[in-house]
Amino acid sequence: MHVVVIGAGLVGLSSALWLARSGHRVTVVDRRPPAPGVAYDHACSYGNACSIALHACIPVATPGIARKVPGMLLDPLGPLALRWGYLPQLARWLWHFVKASDPAEVERIGGVLAGLLAQVKAGYDPLVEEAGAGDLFRHQGCLYLYRSAAEFAAAEAEIAFRRRHGVRLTVLDAAAIRALEPNLAPLYHRGLMFDDAYSVVSPHRLALAFAAAIGARGGDFVAGEAVLGRDLAVTIGGTVLRPDRVVVAGGSWSRTLAAQIGDDILLDTERGYHVMFPGQGDVLTRPVCYPGHGFYLTPMADGLRAVGTVELGGLRAAPDWRRSDVIAGTARRLLPGLAEADGRWMGFRPSMPDSLPVIGASPRDARVVYAFGHGHIGLTLAGITGRLVGQIVDGATPSLDLAPFRPDRF
Ligand SMILES: Cc1cc2nc3c(=O)[nH]c(=O)nc-3n(C[C@H](O)[C@H](O)[C@H](O)COP(=O)(O)OP(=O)(O)OC[C@H]3O[C@@H](n4cnc5c(N)ncnc54)[C@H](O)[C@@H]3O)c2cc1C
Repeated sequence: MHVVVIGAGLVGLSSALWLARSGHRVTVVDRRPPAPGVAYDHACSYGNACSIALHACIPVATPGIARKVPGMLLDPLGPLALRWGYLPQLARWLWHFVKASDPAEVERIGGVLAGLLAQVKAGYDPLVEEAGAGDLFRHQGCLYLYRSAAEFAAAEAEIAFRRRHGVRLTVLDAAAIRALEPNLAPLYHRGLMFDDAYSVVSPHRLALAFAAAIGARGGDFVAGEAVLGRDLAVTIGGTVLRPDRVVVAGGSWSRTLAAQIGDDILLDTERGYHVMFPGQGDVLTRPVCYPGHGFYLTPMADGLRAVGTVELGGLRAAPDWRRSDVIAGTARRLLPGLAEADGRWMGFRPSMPDSLPVIGASPRDARVVYAFGHGHIGLTLAGITGRLVGQIVDGATPSLDLAPFRPDRF
């Protein structure tokens, strides 16, 4: 079949590559598809914290989140912030977000995420091997640091939750942390090492490698804004494609694409920021996360990336660069040897209220397959999502129960 994939983030690229491997002819449409020398920073897949977070089975909305909403509104530079002006548009999403924080619901979502995370390698490994991209991965785990005894004690329930859902972790004292990451300021009390986690040294290069592999299988790329019409017409400027199937993998913009064929999907965005410290990637061995700050420091091929914060403010508002200044300042406190930051970015996490992605056929037209809404873990879940999309298009039995990912669940 001819399959058009809208969106060349890592979810769209993984879907396209799985489909090409099944023998389908794929066309990938993106505003700017990944190609050597072409900027890719419009995609969320470009700017993330690079962590293949196999431990990420805890949803964003956890019990007690409702109490934090007023603080989110009052502190525009806090790790979790909400823009007043966007509140009316966000209300329905926020209502379901708070509802998803019910303890029983959190437990259910944790189980679903754990099931998906267990298949991450089955989703990625064949693609990485085909694309010859194995050298872009670093298998050094991921370190979470807690700054005080109180902060660590408060994390006890989360640690138990992860263990219950099969996550392997080791508790580290300050001396063990220092031995692993000697350049960090000793502003920690305890740490957790997630041994199975790994990281990508450049998500951009991974996208380029996947794009090249799609091209090698005869897939093609079209640059421009896609509009999805009835009866599978995909219009890009003056070009109209009429494929046999469409995959919508447009990240945070997928709600608009779904609405074009009459589906109302409760997708919104959690905006995030990063700053780069070029040439300083060797100060750490692995991604280090400070959950108390919602903040990651990640060593990459081209430098160190400091990443973080969640800002609920929609797709249109200008970036608040004071947030990246806060991130840069925090990074320099935690890693005292860092030189000046150079390079800042804001991107759009595509987020559903229940922290679960949308993976499944459109209720309006089963020939349209949705694959978006991966929130904080779309880099991690891209490969397995692509594999599931391939199974849906092929009419094969999915390797996982897809009911929790239904597009019309809200
Ligand atoms: C600060 C931050 C840190 C993160 N850290 C991590 C992490 O460590 N680990 C992890 O697993 N995840 C992480 N994430 C999340 C992850 O980056 C995202 O979930 C993931 O990149 C989403 O991928 P995607 O392919 O769905 O969307 P995108 O990468 O945004 O791709 C969607 C593409 O579709 C295109 N598009 C949309 N609509 C149209 C249209 N109509 N026509 C043409 N093109 C269109 C867009 O231009 C874009 O290129 C992080 C995110 C942020 C913001």
